[in-house]
Parts: sequence; C-alpha cells; structure tokens
Amino acid sequence: MVSVAKNRRWRGWLFLLVVNGLACTHAPWNPHRGWRAWKTANVTVYAETVFEPTVTIEDMETSYLILASTFFHGFAIPPVEVIQIPNAGYTPFLGPGGGAKMEAVFTGLHVGASRTPHSILLVSERVSRGTGAHLLAHHFIEAAAPRSPLWFHEGLGRYLSAFASYGQSGEYACFGIVRPYAVGGMLEPLPELFALSWADHNRQSAPNMNVTAWGLVDYLLHGRDGTLAPSLRSLMRALAAGANGYPALASVYPPEVVKTIDEDMPDHTRHVTKQALCPLPYRMSAPARPRTTVTVAPVPEATMKAFFEAFEALPSRTGYADHFPPQ
Ligand SMILES: [Zn+2]
Repeated sequence: MVSVAKNRRWRGWLFLLVVNGLACTHAPWNPHRGWRAWKTANVTVYAETVFEPTVTIEDMETSYLILASTFFHGFAIPPVEVIQIPNAGYTPFLGPGGGAKMEAVFTGLHVGASRTPHSILLVSERVSRGTGAHLLAHHFIEAAAPRSPLWFHEGLGRYLSAFASYGQSGEYACFGIVRPYAVGGMLEPLPELFALSWADHNRQSAPNMNVTAWGLVDYLLHGRDGTLAPSLRSLMRALAAGANGYPALASVYPPEVVKTIDEDMPDHTRHVTKQALCPLPYRMSAPARPRTTVTVAPVPEATMKAFFEAFEALPSRTGYADHFPPQ
C-alpha cells in the first residue's frame, strides 16, 4: 500500500452493489443443451446465449486480475468458473423472500464424478460489476484462507465489491471507495458476529450481520489511520489456521486494539464522514496468470447437467446466503 499523487488520472471503473432481480425458478425444456464456454487463463464463463457474454468475461477477468494483484498476491488462487444464466432463466435457488436467486458462489463444490472440487459463480446476464466482484471475492477468500469464518468472508467480500484501477497504465487499484458509513444499518455486538454460523446467517440474521462484518473489515483497513491495514494478510493466515474472533485478532493486532475494538469499531463506522478520492491505494503486483485471449468451445450436455445436479443436491437452497462453502 502506498501513497499516490492526487492528480493521477482515473482510468478504471467503479463497482457498485446492485440488488438481484427477479427470474423464474422452473426448468426450461432441455436446459443443458447448447452451452458454450468462453475461457481465459483465469476465468471460464459458461453461457447458452447466442450472444457472447463479453461483458461478463471482461468484468470477471478484470476483477480477477485486480484481486490477484493486490490483496491476494502471493496466495495460490485457482481459476474460477462462472455459469451465466439468462435473466428469466432457471435457477435452483430462492432468496429469503421466496423470489428467484440468480447470484451465488460455490466453493469446494463436488461436481459429477470429478474428485477435484470446483469453485463456481452463478450469475444472471445482468449481474452488476459490484455483485460479480463480491462473489469473486468469496472465491479468493476461500482459496487464501480456507474455512475462514462467515464474518470475514462477508465483511471482506463486501469491502472488495467496490474498487477501481487507475494510474497512467492502470498500475494502481483503489479500494474503500464505498464505505459502510455511507450505507448505514444497525450494528450487532461483535461476540454475536464471531459466533454466527452459515445456517443462522442464511435463515435470519444476514442484513445486520453483513453490515457489521463490513464495518469490522473497514475498521481493520481504515481505522486508527490505516495502521492496522498491513496486518490483514497475517489475519488471513491466522483464520486459515483455524483461529476466530478475539483470539484471531489478538494473534495479529496489538493488545490495546483488541481490548477496545467493541467500542472503536462502531465508533469508526458511524463517524467517518470524509471521503478521500482514493481511501486505500494499492500498487498492483504482476498476477500469477496474466490476461490472455478468450477461446470459445462447446460444452457437452453432460457437463452442464452435472453442474446443475450438484447445485440441486445442496441441502439448503433458500435464504440469504450467497456463498455456499465446502460441504
Ligand atoms: Zn457474500
């Protein structure tokens, strides 16, 4: 993380969260036939449309490269698969209100007879860049810090749903351009956040918990004048080693930070009012797999059928959760 001259030219794009739309939940006739795969070294997009999913693969590849070059540089992040369903297409998932859920991410999903688990993003044709980046962030977090707790997944995932690249040749990424204070929402006590299970989150408590988790990650990156930010990678390693909650924080941050975080985090989240042009600049390192040209190939019907059968075999397909961690 470095400081940056104020007058650098913005060149990238800005992500914003957009709420999912509606779609039907019944399977169309022969839903697994006629799919094609658009593939780079980092991203494979499966789509059945006659039109190329140009925007989806461009957004996903760009987001992938930015995340791989910044927060997750040095971690081994595998490529990701994206299944793009039509706006009114079939989805095996329902949101908390019973409407079709068109966007979700599955990490460590076993598909068909393959022993290698898949990491798959399910998106609609109109998925926003912000939502796509958030889902992609879950893939990165699970790869870098396997089985990390829900609060970290949703908090960092929400934080990473808004960023931009800039600089003369796009050599910087800018994070923190959408902040929890600008959105508001009630904060829950940290002990309850740390104890939250995926099942409870899915059933009822997602909205306030998501904002609280986002506030906590925002505090760890921007609170105390940003002095805690460099330790986020150490926190990821601690979480990957099985730590959670206050012990995980205590293994990374100074004692006085952990001692006062219950008061300091909400105070930070509620009282930040200044919005810097680039709150957290991050110089991009070379990604493990640079951008490649896109190749296109037909996908066997059995392959798509296996994907959807794997989705339909998941035990809980209704509720808030957008991330389905390894079973
Ligand atoms: Zn999420």
